[in-house]
Amino acid sequence: MPDRPIDDLPPHDRRRFFAAGFGRVIRPLAEYLEKRLPFPLPQGRDVLRPPGALPEREFLDTCYRSGACADVCPAKCIRLVQGDDEETRGTPLIDPDLAACVVCEELACMRACPSGALSLVGKHAIRMGLAIVREQTCVRSRGDDCRICVERCPLGGDAIRIGDDGRVDVIDPAKHHGIGCVGCGVCQFYCPTTPKAIYVRLYP
Ligand code: SF4
Ligand code: SF4
Ligand code: SF4
Repeated sequence: MPDRPIDDLPPHDRRRFFAAGFGRVIRPLAEYLEKRLPFPLPQGRDVLRPPGALPEREFLDTCYRSGACADVCPAKCIRLVQGDDEETRGTPLIDPDLAACVVCEELACMRACPSGALSLVGKHAIRMGLAIVREQTCVRSRGDDCRICVERCPLGGDAIRIGDDGRVDVIDPAKHHGIGCVGCGVCQFYCPTTPKAIYVRLYP
């Protein structure tokens, strides 16, 4: 930023000065509003609640709709449902097509929840869902050596790997002593195909 008085700046630099300042002021407001803009429940896909969520019926009965989890999430992945349905309005959900839980170090949403709708569990005990691979859509099925989902997964080789047959292999924690995919959706977010060759379904 120039250190000359603002009135001495040429018009072009003055515009940049004000644009930068305006951006700093407006960004927190924009992030706040984004979380509260109308956000309907995704249709035809599973609704993922934040980590540590109670079973859906209990979750709906317990959640205060305070948005505290959304406010603290460093990944800005938690959105609050808006719409006509009183039961779901204001509840938090995650759509990995838009932004995924990165399983942050602090597990911030669970710690911030004031109602107990999200309870603090260790990262390996998170059960948001389970990633499912669409073999025919994955570019590996036609010989491309894509490894984006494997490389991006916050749980690493504990949750997903390339199997001996060359396919993406998601590890189901129920079959591996409780260690495996937690359903965070990072793989879904980064998968480059349309539709996604990997997506998260609610944990069976
Ligand atoms: S665990 Fe962290 S990144 Fe994931 S939803 Fe909660 S606050 Fe966001
Ligand atoms: S959803 Fe994807 S990125 Fe997240 S733990 Fe499972 S395999 Fe890893
Ligand atoms: S990121 Fe998508 S296309 Fe790439 S290997 Fe994973 S599932 Fe296949």
